[in-house]
Amino acid sequence: MAISAVLIFGAPGSGKGTVGAKLAATTSLKHLSTGDIFRGIAPSSESGKLLASYSSKGLLVPDEATVKIFERYVEGLVNTNKLNPEKDTLLLDGIPRTVAQVDLIRPIVDVKHIFVLDIQDEATIVARLLNRAKIEGRKDDADENVIKNRLNVYKDSTAKVLEKYDPKIISHIVGDNTPDEVFCDVLRAYVNFKKNA
Ligand code: AMP
Repeated sequence: MAISAVLIFGAPGSGKGTVGAKLAATTSLKHLSTGDIFRGIAPSSESGKLLASYSSKGLLVPDEATVKIFERYVEGLVNTNKLNPEKDTLLLDGIPRTVAQVDLIRPIVDVKHIFVLDIQDEATIVARLLNRAKIEGRKDDADENVIKNRLNVYKDSTAKVLEKYDPKIISHIVGDNTPDEVFCDVLRAYVNFKKNA
């Protein structure tokens, strides 16, 4: 049986990780970021080398490899009692990122709602990512060409993911506001979703 999930969705630098961590800390949602999962894989391993060859250029990891790693990770959480597939709801951050992934993850997770962080100004995103590079040391945040690739991938492939879901389960949130405001708006949208579920 597929595990219930809600998605936190948006361009790189839209604040998914920040909001995701806050939401998981204040609700029973279990935050799962594929970017974090990938960065946790040893860079010297075969999978680590494969992932780095894509992420260092700002490109998406191929769908099959992405979903296989994601599925194994979720299985690991279930097998170690960190995730109860009957009771828990996942907060997915960073997956699905292509239309093909929408179908590939269907047997694993049942997407109940989507919170989209909309950013009007691309310059905001670039500034946020360059700033995050200084704080977290992520190489893919430090190079403006890599950032541009990631934004293009978002526009060309990832944004189309939303067309695969019923518009009724999608909430749009203004992502340009302060982190506290964005969190407040997402929490409100989540509470509304729960009330009507
Ligand atoms: P993020 O931390 O979400 O920005 O992800 C960092 C990098 O991991 C991305 O630029 C991709 O190379 C890779 N990645 C994360 N999630 C996915 C996904 N669902 N599909 C393909 N590649 C992904």
